[in-house]
Amino acid sequence: MNVKIWPRTAADRGGIACMPMRKNIPEGRDDWNLTTCPSCGRECWEIPMLAVAKAQGARALCTECAIRKGMGV
Ligand SMILES: [Zn+2]
Repeated sequence: MNVKIWPRTAADRGGIACMPMRKNIPEGRDDWNLTTCPSCGRECWEIPMLAVAKAQGARALCTECAIRKGMGV
């Protein structure tokens, strides 16, 4: 079992990018797209910054899944 825990920075490759959840932010901004978390299926916002994280090979997950995975649980 290889679990990596590290503080994320903008320079990270791979890992997990977190998307704000719609339940926390009901009204997204104009440039946010409503999507669903690939892990739990709940509604969350795909924000423009995610394109950068995905280009680095990150998986986009909702905030709660990102926290869970980020903590290696
Ligand atoms: Zn999720």
